[in-house]
Order: sequence, then structure tokens, then C-alpha cells
Amino acid sequence: MTAALTLDESVILTTDLPGSSWWAQGGISIKSAFTDGAKQDRWSDLTDPAAVERIAGDGPEAVDWLRTEAESLVTDNGEQTVLGEEGIEGLDRAIETGNDATGAEVMRVLNSSLASRDSVKRLLGRAIDLITDGERVVGVVAVDSRARQRIVMAPAVVIATGGLGRLYQRTTNPRGSDGSGLAMAIRAGARVADLEFVQFHPTAMTVAKDPLPMVSERVRRRGAILVDAHGRRFMAGIHSDAELAPPGLLARAIWRQSVRGAGAYLDARHVHELADHHPTLLAHAMSVGIDPRTDLVPVGAAAHYQIGGVATDLEGRTSLPGLWAVGEAASTGLHGSTRLLSNALLEGIVFGRRVARSVAAEAETPGDVAYCPVDSRDLPVTPGPAFEELRKLMWEHVGLERDGDGLWRAHNELTALVPVLRRTLAGRDAATVAIQVVAAALRRTESRGSHYRIDHQATDPSQAARVVVEPGPVEVERLV
Ligand SMILES: Cc1cc2nc3c(=O)[nH]c(=O)nc-3n(C[C@H](O)[C@H](O)[C@H](O)COP(=O)(O)OP(=O)(O)OC[C@H]3O[C@@H](n4cnc5c(N)ncnc54)[C@H](O)[C@@H]3O)c2cc1C
Repeated sequence: MTAALTLDESVILTTDLPGSSWWAQGGISIKSAFTDGAKQDRWSDLTDPAAVERIAGDGPEAVDWLRTEAESLVTDNGEQTVLGEEGIEGLDRAIETGNDATGAEVMRVLNSSLASRDSVKRLLGRAIDLITDGERVVGVVAVDSRARQRIVMAPAVVIATGGLGRLYQRTTNPRGSDGSGLAMAIRAGARVADLEFVQFHPTAMTVAKDPLPMVSERVRRRGAILVDAHGRRFMAGIHSDAELAPPGLLARAIWRQSVRGAGAYLDARHVHELADHHPTLLAHAMSVGIDPRTDLVPVGAAAHYQIGGVATDLEGRTSLPGLWAVGEAASTGLHGSTRLLSNALLEGIVFGRRVARSVAAEAETPGDVAYCPVDSRDLPVTPGPAFEELRKLMWEHVGLERDGDGLWRAHNELTALVPVLRRTLAGRDAATVAIQVVAAALRRTESRGSHYRIDHQATDPSQAARVVVEPGPVEVERLV
């Protein structure tokens, strides 16, 4: 949306499924996080310093731009929309719009801006494959809600389809985050990077919902603690920062609690003004009969953020001419092996603007179509039961703790499922992406950031590099 608003003319092709941006709770990072030398250790390893520099350089301008877009809007009750700032202890970089619904407010601003611009057309549909003229990407094949096919030709195509959390049985991600843009790029031969790094949120509410509602770290920062089924606080004995331990370590500790059957609950009963500061949490919990002001909230880890993605340079260019990628679908190198809080929205806004400038300078009138995939045109979109089997396999064998045996098992079972998965568009995309995630996880024989191998628990300095690959057809044997 940011890229579309920055371009002179654009078409947004989107499904009607919500993306993660609507659900972001914590906020948006601001400049101080990047320029204060004392905070440099906030960046995880494998982070590309050039990407951090771009974010630090462009971040303030991008946030000012967002604020200006917001100020030009007037809310239904006649008030001006203001994107505020809030300093949370230990998180003094968050920009917030009040309470825990920053993403929704930002999306409301962007949507209203888009609605007021004639330069942006919107098409409802699911992009299913890229079209090329032999050298450049020149468009996409899409299907609309009535399964009618559309061909959209374009001087430049930007993939902004979000993450892949839906490929896991337990996830905080909405239904739109099924890795379909990444799948399209893989099928067209674009380079991908760092797919083994999938971040798991430590505290999703383990209730009968899919996706699982996320309980933001901010609740822990405001004093909520983690206890086991007997009410005993367990993190204090595991890490000196207890509930504020690094998210990866916390997620694995909570995961082990559940594997051992010891239980994990968030105790937020004593958190001051919970309803005022965390209305989203309260609403989710109350909808399943839990009142966090008086009850313990059952929590567990869940797939949350795709760190890797379509490999891009710092202008969002992919390895395929005519194709750009931005947001969670892209891998700029910013997040290293563990994304740090509140950087995803900022990345989308900063790189959305950078992509738009690069597209404006380099877009070309599409040539004749040389390759337009047709094999998938009649498939139904909605995933079938095989998709749920894939999600289970990914959760059990490609989740928080991995090992070679489990990864190979996932690979073999996924491969066996492929013919069934290919009967739906969502299943076909899931198969494409899941097997590449498994391949990447097999390839990295060490533990680092969000990738934890039980059979290779140490970090191996010789593997301290991002891995960018040209996936092509799935040949896991060749990759490991
Ligand atoms: C619960 C939750 C809380 C979070 N909190 C924060 C936070 O506080 N701060 C922060 O910085 N980040 C946060 N994140 C992460 C952040 O929200 C996301 O990484 C970011 O918003 C992704 O933005 P995006 O534009 O790349 O994708 P999305 O916002 O997911 O948008 C992708 C869009 O593409 C559409 N789409 C997908 N596939 C196709 C297709 N094939 N054809 C057409 N359209 C398609 C989807 O329907 C969707 O509309 C959170 C994530 C979650 C899930």
C-alpha cells in the first residue's frame, strides 16, 4: 500500500483475506533505536548493516510521511487522526496509535489514503503465477472469487503478499499469510534467502481458535509473569531476564513446558489498567470465556513471522528483472536470524517507498508474453484436508526444535502429499514453500537465532552468513 501510494499510477491486486498488518499490536520502531550506539546490540546476528543503515536513514522520513497521511484524514466524529508516540520501558522506540491496535490504525490510514487517490486501482483476486516475456516479469495470472481468471500485465510487479505463518498448525497469522507470493516467485525461479528462519511468538493464547490470538510482549513488560499448572513461576530459573528473556529462548522454554505437560500460563491479574492498554487481548480472551483480570491465560509458542523470503537488494529488486518484493514476503537482510520487535511495520513502510522509487525509475512497457502458466487455472483456491496435514507436519518437525531425522521425515511426507496438495491453489503454493523451508532448515547444520537444531545445538561460526539460493525445481538432496 505504501508503494502504491508513492507511485504515480498503480494497481493493487489483493485477496479479501486480511494480512498481518491489520493485527500488529506493538507499534513501529523509530530512529533512536538505530542511531543510539548503546542499542546496537538490539540487532541480531546475520543482519545486513547496509539494510539497517537504510532503515535508520529513511525511517524518520517514512514515519513523517505516514503521519502526514494520517493528519490529512478526519475521523468519523470529526477529529483529526494522529499517530502518537509512546515510550514503554525498555522499548522506547515504539510509535503507537494508542492501546494495542497500531496496525489496524495504520491500515485504516493507508486504506483511506488509497480510496482518495484516482491513481490507484484495486482488483480483488488471488495472484497465482508470474508471467514473463522471456527476460522480464511482465504481469501476473490471477483468479477472482468466482474462479474467473484474469491476466494483469504490468511494467513492474511488486510482491507484497506477507508471510507464511499459515503453513504451521499453530500460528498467530491470519489466513492471508499463506506464502503464496513466495511460491509464485519460487516457481518463476527468483532467488530466495534465509527460509529456515521462522520466528515463533512465545505467548500465543492456546485456546480453540485458529489463528491463535497473540499476547504481546508489552503485557509482560507491564509486569505479567509466566507460571506453570501449579502456579509456579518458571522463567526466573531459566534466564536472568525471566519473562523478558530473548523471544526465541522464551518460546522454546514455553514449548518445553507444554511438551513436558507442565503447562504455561500468563498471569496478568495484577497488571495495572489492563483493559485500557490491552483491549485486543481482553477482547480475544473474553471471547473464549477467559478474563485476564481474574484468570490465568494459557499460552504457548506459535509461528509468527517469516524472516526469510524473496531475496531483494535494498531497493526491493529481486533476482528477476521486472519483479520487486517488499514487506514480510521479502528478505532484505534487515532481520538477520531473529527479527526484533516492531521492525516489520517500519520495514514495510520504508522499503515500500524505496521500491516505488526504484520501480518508477526502472519499469518498462511489457513485451510479448513468452511464458504464462496455465496448468493451475481451473484449480479451486480453498485448501483441502491435505493442507491441514502439511500444517501439522510443519509444526511437529519444522517448528521450534528441529533435527535431521524430523526434517527428512517432513520432507518425505510432504513429497508424498504433493500430488494431493496440488489439487488446490493454496495447497500447491503451500507445497512449494514448505519444501523449500525444510530444505533450508536441513542445509543449516547449526543453531542460530530462530533456527534451533537439537542435533546441532551450537552456533557454527563457519555458517555465519545468509544463504541466498535459486530454488528452481525442488531438489533437496542437491541442496544439503
Ligand atoms: C498478531 C501479529 C502482531 C504483530 N505485531 C507487530 C508489531 O507490533 N509491530 C511490527 O512491526 N510488526 C508486527 N507484526 C508483524 C507485521 O504485522 C507483519 O510482518 C507485516 O504487517 C506484514 O506486512 P505485509 O504488507 O508484508 O503483509 P500483510 O500485511 O500480511 O499483507 C499481505 C496482503 O497480501 C494479500 N495476499 C496474500 N497472498 C496474495 C495473493 N496470492 N494474491 C493477492 N493478494 C495476496 C493478503 O490478503 C494481504 O492483504 C505482527 C504480526 C502479527 C501476526
